[in-house]
Amino acid sequence: MDPIENTAPLRAKPLPYGRQTIEDDDVAAVVEVLRSDWLTTGPKVDEFERALAAFTGAAHAVTIANGTGALHAAMAALGIGPGDEVIVPAITFVATANCVIYQGGTPVFADIEADTLLIDPADVERKITPRTKAILAVDYGGQPCDYGALRALAQRHGLALVADACHALGAARDGTPVGSLAELSTFSFHPVKPIATGEGGAIVTNDAALAAKMRVFRGHGIVSDFRQREKQGSWVYDMSHLGFNYRLSDIQCALGLSQLAKLPGWIARRQALAAHYDERLREHPLLTPLACRPGVSHGFHLYVAQLPIGVDRGEVFRAFRAARIGVNVHYLPVYLHSFYRERLGDRRGLCPAAEQAYERILSLPIFPLMSERDVDDVVAVADQIGRSVLKS
Ligand SMILES: *Cc1c(COP(=O)(O)O)cnc(C)c1O
Repeated sequence: MDPIENTAPLRAKPLPYGRQTIEDDDVAAVVEVLRSDWLTTGPKVDEFERALAAFTGAAHAVTIANGTGALHAAMAALGIGPGDEVIVPAITFVATANCVIYQGGTPVFADIEADTLLIDPADVERKITPRTKAILAVDYGGQPCDYGALRALAQRHGLALVADACHALGAARDGTPVGSLAELSTFSFHPVKPIATGEGGAIVTNDAALAAKMRVFRGHGIVSDFRQREKQGSWVYDMSHLGFNYRLSDIQCALGLSQLAKLPGWIARRQALAAHYDERLREHPLLTPLACRPGVSHGFHLYVAQLPIGVDRGEVFRAFRAARIGVNVHYLPVYLHSFYRERLGDRRGLCPAAEQAYERILSLPIFPLMSERDVDDVVAVADQIGRSVLKS
């Protein structure tokens, strides 16, 4: 294949693949907390938790330091421990599998559906053993998984069903919001995610007992918090479990509240940009967008397209970057990372659809502040790269 003839930079400013939206009212919300009596574990935590529960249709929300802590808390609340297996998709951010190992459990990798990169319920079923305790599905890119099929499997085999919904706050499937599709759903508020608090996360659930366990887990395993003690006029507290300091501060919760109010508008904006990509990429020779299932309201945290089989993704990646288009790749199958290879040995071939998809995927820029013109720039660069790469 000839080297790609570049593609003089079209853009004066580089286009990142994702970016937060911070407006004056977000700044004002943070400043207000800085001038208040509470910097952490104050009224904004409760307010943000109530707003998250209302937004997702769940009874309880527990805020936590980050999305990884949310997954850790979910595994702890479910009592995952040594000898237990949790089924996770092969293609996800590493934290989805790591949280099982934090608890001494074993992540078991299930393959994905080639056209959506969502966990494949048929392969989940094949991976169930007498040690399986939970299914941890990932709403990859912002598209909710097939929770109907996953719930049926979970019920039949007596398993917990958890959604790693770090990409998907604000999405829905068959009219049910993400947060109400699984027993526990976890969120991340990292700047590239649907809403940003710097670092931040939450778990939502309808199960009051699980919510109570996660509150204790995020605060050192100490049973009563400061405000409860004050109400009781007591200095006594008890540490009943080994917990962590995984709290989210009032400063961050105030930012989260301000951001959450704007999320429906941002999701609509992401969907409009995705629709524009879909139209511009129809029958495109280089880029084929992933599929969206019927009944899905997609959150479009990522807009992912696949290259034709045999095209050198590295070359295409570098050509986009040279044109100042910030494409990215989400993700290497988790078990191919060196940590997992050292634990499991070389398991190449374990999840063939995931390994094939990994060679072909490219995440294109998408975030609420992008314009349709930006999408047109990305497609113009794709046209140019396609002409160069596909002529040979
Ligand atoms: C971002 C992310 C996480 C971890 O969230 P942090 O807030 O960065 O800890 C977990 N799972 C998935 C799928 C993610 O994208």
